[in-house]
Amino acid sequence: MPFPLLKKFLPASTRLSLRMLYWRVRGVVYAGNKVYCPLCETSFSTFLPFGVPERQQAMCPKCNTVERHRLLWLYLKHELHIETKPYKVLHMAPEPVLQDRLKQLPNLHYLSADLTAANAMQKVDLQQLPFSNASFDLILCSHVLGHVPDDLQAMRELSRVLTLKGLLLLQDHVYPNLAVTEEFPDSLTAQERYKLYGQPDRQRNYGQDFVERLEQQELQVKVVEYTPFTSEEECYKLGLAYRERLYLCSPKPRS
Ligand SMILES: [Zn+2]
Repeated sequence: MPFPLLKKFLPASTRLSLRMLYWRVRGVVYAGNKVYCPLCETSFSTFLPFGVPERQQAMCPKCNTVERHRLLWLYLKHELHIETKPYKVLHMAPEPVLQDRLKQLPNLHYLSADLTAANAMQKVDLQQLPFSNASFDLILCSHVLGHVPDDLQAMRELSRVLTLKGLLLLQDHVYPNLAVTEEFPDSLTAQERYKLYGQPDRQRNYGQDFVERLEQQELQVKVVEYTPFTSEEECYKLGLAYRERLYLCSPKPRS
C-alpha cells in the first residue's frame, strides 16, 4: 500500500484522491513513447510490473489500470460502441479511471455501486441489490464475484436486475488447472487470506466450472477471448499480452 500510515487518519475518499494524485505524478515520471494506455490516452516509456507472481509490462503508471482494464475498455469501445449507444449502465466496484471515462459520456445513464469502494456512487450489497427487476441493460463486474461471500446469490441478483436483452460483462480469475471452484474456509483471517491467496478478502478461486455456476443461476454465458489487435507489436504497445477472457452473460428467458 503506497500510503500505509494515512489509512489510520484519513477518510477513504481522501486517500483515493491522494492515490490518484500520486499516479498522475508517476505518469509524468514515466513519460515516453514506447507504450500507450487507451484508457488514460497517454504514452509512456514502459508499463510497470504488477501482480503475484509479478508480470512485466502490466500496470499503467498514470491511471493504475492493468491489462484486463485496457482490454475491457477496448471491448466496450469497439464492440459495444459505448461512446455512442444509449446504455443504462451499472458498474460494480468501479475502477476510478474507467468510471471517469464512462461518467463523461452523455449517451449513458450511468451508476456505479459497491459495498466499500470510496468512489462508488451508491453503497450496495451485491447479494441483495436495491434495484427493480430489469433495471439495467449493461452491467460491468470485473474481478468482484470472487470476493463476495455468496457469489451464487450475487449472480442471481445480477441476472434479476438485467433487462432480458441486457448484457452482464464479467471478468474473473479462472484457474486452468482447477476443475472445481475452491472455496476457502470461513475461519481464515484477512491476514491468512492475503498470505495464502494474495488478497485479504478473497473467498474462492474459480475453476473450470465457473461457466456452469453462472448457467445454474439463470444466466446464459458466451466466453470470448477478445484479441482486438493481432500483431505482437500492437499487443505489447497497448499492454495486452496477458490473455484475459470476457464472460458475456444474459438472463435466461423468464417464465
Ligand atoms: Zn492509463
